Amino acid sequence: MRNGWDLFYPPCCPLCHQILQGQEQMICVKCRAKLRPIGEPRCKKCGKPLEDGQEELCRDCRVRPHWFEEGRGIFLYDQKMKDSIIRYKYGGRRIYGEFYIRALALYGESSMKLWRPQAVFPVPMEKRKKRKRGFNQSEQLALGIGRQFGIPVCTDWIQKVKKTKSQKKLNAAERRRNLQEAFRGKPGVWKIERALIVDDVYTTGATIDAVAGELKKHGVKKVYFLTICTGFV
Ligand SMILES: [Zn+2]
Ligand SMILES: [Zn+2]
Repeated sequence: MRNGWDLFYPPCCPLCHQILQGQEQMICVKCRAKLRPIGEPRCKKCGKPLEDGQEELCRDCRVRPHWFEEGRGIFLYDQKMKDSIIRYKYGGRRIYGEFYIRALALYGESSMKLWRPQAVFPVPMEKRKKRKRGFNQSEQLALGIGRQFGIPVCTDWIQKVKKTKSQKKLNAAERRRNLQEAFRGKPGVWKIERALIVDDVYTTGATIDAVAGELKKHGVKKVYFLTICTGFV
């Protein structure tokens, strides 16, 4: 919705960062025309694009078991998406979240119908980090998805209890080690059979797996995920 604040912060396209014109909503017409979600063939487990349809799973998923059942990122984590997410997370462009939520809901709808999650979980962030950044992007996205599909969002059921290094420069094994014991769910067995985790980027799956493992510890039987992007290490 446009209001008086737009005089100071005119709405921009989340992909090319140009000011939106006239009837343009959320993204500009040029970027809308070029928008391509990841299609088939993709990995049946993590949703990464596959070179051909011969294999069911990507190389990662063939060698490494995951705690989650299945999930997918909507877009490739290319330079355009990297820039977009950096501005969203660190550049005051929290409004870009509206576009991401719309894209997750639109392109993820067919999967959501199959998965039928009963609760949505964000990836928790340390309190101090959240204060510094002003928001947890994963939480904003999870709340949006919960709203779109009418599913409750469990924002404080899992806490980040360990300070961890940035995952960016770590390889897959280091990422897993870094996140060991990093998340803790509130005690007890939860009455949730199917849960969805929402985050911004899926790379090696270490983060989603760490949260999914904690969900399973609390009795959740099936864990799925949706992310805006899928990246490669
Ligand atoms: Zn644009
Ligand atoms: Zn995979």
